[in-house]
Amino acid sequence: MELESPSSFRDRPVNIDEDGKRKWIYAKQPKGKWYVRRTIVGWLAISFLVLAPFIKINGNPLMLFDIANRKFSIFGQMIWAQDSYLLALIMAVTVVFIVLFTVIYGRLWCGWACPQTVFLEMIYRRIEYLFEGNYRNHKPKNEQASSNFWLKIGKHASFLLVSILITNIFLNWIVGPARLYEIVTSPISENWFGFVAMIALSLFYYWIYAFFREQVCTMICPYGRIQGALLDSRTIGIIYDYKRGEPRGAKNSGDCINCHQCITVCPTGIDIKNGSQLECINCTACIDECNLVMKKIHKPENLIRFDSVLGVETGKRSIFNGRTYAYSAVLLILIVALGVTVSNRKPLETTMLRVPGSIYQQVDSVTYSNLYQVKIINKTETDKNLVLKVVSPKSGRLQLATGQTSLKKQGMLESILIVNLNRNDLTGKSTNIEIGIYEGETLLEVYSTNFIGPVK
Ligand code: SF4
Ligand code: SF4
Repeated sequence: MELESPSSFRDRPVNIDEDGKRKWIYAKQPKGKWYVRRTIVGWLAISFLVLAPFIKINGNPLMLFDIANRKFSIFGQMIWAQDSYLLALIMAVTVVFIVLFTVIYGRLWCGWACPQTVFLEMIYRRIEYLFEGNYRNHKPKNEQASSNFWLKIGKHASFLLVSILITNIFLNWIVGPARLYEIVTSPISENWFGFVAMIALSLFYYWIYAFFREQVCTMICPYGRIQGALLDSRTIGIIYDYKRGEPRGAKNSGDCINCHQCITVCPTGIDIKNGSQLECINCTACIDECNLVMKKIHKPENLIRFDSVLGVETGKRSIFNGRTYAYSAVLLILIVALGVTVSNRKPLETTMLRVPGSIYQQVDSVTYSNLYQVKIINKTETDKNLVLKVVSPKSGRLQLATGQTSLKKQGMLESILIVNLNRNDLTGKSTNIEIGIYEGETLLEVYSTNFIGPVK
């Protein structure tokens, strides 16, 4: 990558040249305390991604997004698609949390915990350094090694292998470890769809990490695009202290010697001296690199540092302002509402709908029946033995077509329900009835529906 002229960053992304062609970014491996910290956080994030579906809380996985069966386990709390109000609340809390976090800490998530960055910087980039050596002056340090055919094959084979592993990590979050093991160990002919999905996903990840890379952060990620609307002069981010650094150059009086070392380590190829930019993922690599330079020229460290624009301007760092307080208040209210809603959740989720196209049947001269499709979800962590009774009108009788009344924890019962009513209990063409769902003698839920009968 050629060094850019000072103003070209305003016209186009630094990884695109004047003709609109991609310019490959050869980011040098950083060295320093921030890189060590980021490595620790990165590997903790990878461990969480790998282990979360295996860790159980109350018998539920720590994390599971089982879209096919429409059930989600979030920190061991099982949530069904039917809990739509709960999902909406979780989403609202998440969005407000993201907004609040971004207002205060900027794009910290991107550089430190986002799976895209963590996998790219902690695994793929390190594999690249292993095969091609480190980079210097925006080129591979060992150009001979980087163009060696067999080393290239080795690098890309390793990339592909890691991509397959990442696909398995991702699938563990979607289908769970048991189902994934079943897919992997059963013949392809029995699971051809799962197998094709795994291959396609692995190739997609390989393409992302081997070729597309930083463009995910700089061009596609919607979170990156909304930064401009959320950041303000008090937001903490990676800032070049222009007051201390300018005017630049060895012969000038500022501390910045214009050595460009902060650009050589940047994974998105930008020059942080141009100010806060959309492409900056707050990875801190430039802090480490500039600190090394400052040490060499016997100047104080942290010419580039975590700070706010206001902090650099005034020398005071404050993350608290009216917007921060307002977002925190909304977030607190939402978290309390979420806690109350989760603790007051009904143990069962029941739906009873009349079988489509069916009307009433006459059983004998005084009895009529209706058919219902019944679905009961047990949201608790204990198996249940259920009894269904017609609560109102009292003379009503019912029968489950499958005869099944036991319901496993987090399980679902689906059956056809036949309800019989006496002619005398009908109040018209449509009669309101109530079905009670009991566990032993305990009434868990009363479900109201309509019973269709002949016009009286
Ligand atoms: S590494 Fe530091 S001294 Fe060198 S150009 Fe960047 S900010 Fe200036
Ligand atoms: S400017 Fe610094 S913190 Fe931002 S992405 Fe580049 S190296 Fe990372």
